[in-house]
Amino acid sequence: MSTRNSPPGRIEGKVAIVTGGGSGIGLAIAEKFTQAGIETVIVGRDEKKLSQAKEKLGKKCHPIICDLSNLSTIPSFVCDVTRQFGQIDILVNNAGINMKKIIEEVTDEDFQKVITTNLTAVFVVSREVVKQMVKQGSGSIINISSMAAQYGLPKVIAYSASKTAIDGMTRAMAVELGPKGIRVNAIAPGFIITDMTDKALNSDPERKAKVFNRTPMGHMGQTSDIGDAALFLASDAAKYITGVVLPVDGGNSIGF
Ligand code: NDP
Repeated sequence: MSTRNSPPGRIEGKVAIVTGGGSGIGLAIAEKFTQAGIETVIVGRDEKKLSQAKEKLGKKCHPIICDLSNLSTIPSFVCDVTRQFGQIDILVNNAGINMKKIIEEVTDEDFQKVITTNLTAVFVVSREVVKQMVKQGSGSIINISSMAAQYGLPKVIAYSASKTAIDGMTRAMAVELGPKGIRVNAIAPGFIITDMTDKALNSDPERKAKVFNRTPMGHMGQTSDIGDAALFLASDAAKYITGVVLPVDGGNSIGF
């Protein structure tokens, strides 16, 4: 058992898929996982981003290029992982996109694009992985939700719809899969410093001020804060936890 960053229970040697593991929050999750000895498959569209992540994380990191919005390619990518590693113990549905526009300007295509990546692809990846987890009689699935599902956020209509659906899907999957030994939880990150939030907040000082005003801890989170929470939920330390949406947000969701 590795002593570095390892939670209680056997985690070393487990196999995880982290979608969007090449950057931001996904990269931080993959880093915590590889440090704990988990064979970690990271998935994304950008080959360069994935190979930089591989260079950083080392031999426990296994990049796979897949555009998850191309839903028909998902079953074969999950099959490849199962064939290569023989098992899938952990799935982190982290890949996601955002789009900031006022409602009147959101086209049908804009809306559908966000829903396909943030919601439908999460369903399809989960369904395929669950087929393997059911055979094993165990597994842990972690969906990355958002504050946009905790309260109303303007100008991100499709994103809010997708993340709110993620919370519902987390609970529905948890009750259906609990008897089969599979736990399903979500993490709702508060405002975490990544490229996505850089774009969303730096262009909108008013929104940025509001974020800080309603975050009792007074600062934005680090991607590693989400990595720590994901490692906990993936591990046996969380073996009786299923169906929760865990805010990791410096108190933002309950801020006055
Ligand atoms: P990033 O933009 O840094 O990461 C998003 C990742 O998703 C990228 O690695 C990207 O990889 C991958 N991705 C996007 N679309 C696809 C696709 N079609 N197929 C495969 N991979 C895809 O953002 P964050 O790290 O900030 O966000 C990660 C998750 O956390 C998202 O679900 C986001 O909604 C959520 N979140 C983030 C918050 C924050 O404060 N940062 C707050 C709340 C939630 P590539 O470009 O290689 O395809």
